[in-house]
Amino acid sequence: MNLTGKHAVVTGGGRGIGRAICLALAQAGADVVINYSGSEAAAQETAEACRAIGVQALTVKANVADETQAAALIDQGIKALGSVDILVNNAGITRDNLILRMRPADFSAVLDTNLKGAFFCMKAACRPMMKARFGRIINISSVVGLRGNAGQANYAASKAGLIGMSKSAAKELASRGITVNCIAPGFIDTAMTEVLPEGVKEKLLTQIPMARLGSAQDVAAAAVFFASEAASYVTGQVLCVDGGMAM
Ligand code: NDP
Repeated sequence: MNLTGKHAVVTGGGRGIGRAICLALAQAGADVVINYSGSEAAAQETAEACRAIGVQALTVKANVADETQAAALIDQGIKALGSVDILVNNAGITRDNLILRMRPADFSAVLDTNLKGAFFCMKAACRPMMKARFGRIINISSVVGLRGNAGQANYAASKAGLIGMSKSAAKELASRGITVNCIAPGFIDTAMTEVLPEGVKEKLLTQIPMARLGSAQDVAAAAVFFASEAASYVTGQVLCVDGGMAM
């Protein structure tokens, strides 16, 4: 997969799955804009690792849940690199609780970051992509968006919403050379899953035919595929990277 000359923005790119996506895109030759909202040191470290691979990399602080900041992120990427060809909406949070106990503020916070954040970034990126008649938008959903999960009504709604939004965008943008696809990771070994109680982790493992957690690199490989020329006739799809969990 050769992405030389392409410019990517990865939201929440400093750590976890986002970091692995930045490194994999850089390995394929793409220059990367690494967005972060709080983890500046991690974002700087990821940028240095990308530069060591031999591509341009810059960090941009932006809370994607804020429309102005999301638009400024895309704008800064274009100003610095000349274009944004690949957008990976990876930033995401959880605020888990049973519906009975879930505070409306926690419902909104998850929707604002995971779904509206992706909408704001996509909205800002799609006009320049349309002008360029090229674009790759990759939204990081979750198997939870396909199957639901007790204690994650807010998160599942945001991730299912991403799938519906991506399919709609795929239909709107296909004629302009822009593809929009989702990756639905299963149970991936990052800070997000590290906090789960051991009992929950053990139960989750029993639901995975491959009987192991996925790695951030497993997800990143799918992102590189969607970004590449090899996927130029693939749009509106959801690729589960989940060891068989959701089938
Ligand atoms: P982490 O918690 O390790 O990382 C989350 C990332 O999102 C961080 O880089 C964080 O940056 C960023 N982020 C959070 N809020 C914002 C915001 N408002 N604006 C910009 N960036 C933000 O999670 P993962 O790496 O595990 O998850 C990455 C994506 O993959 C998420 O969308 C998640 O829902 C999804 N996913 C993860 C799975 C898993 O098992 N780990 C399974 C399925 C999907 P900062 O620290 O700077 O705030």
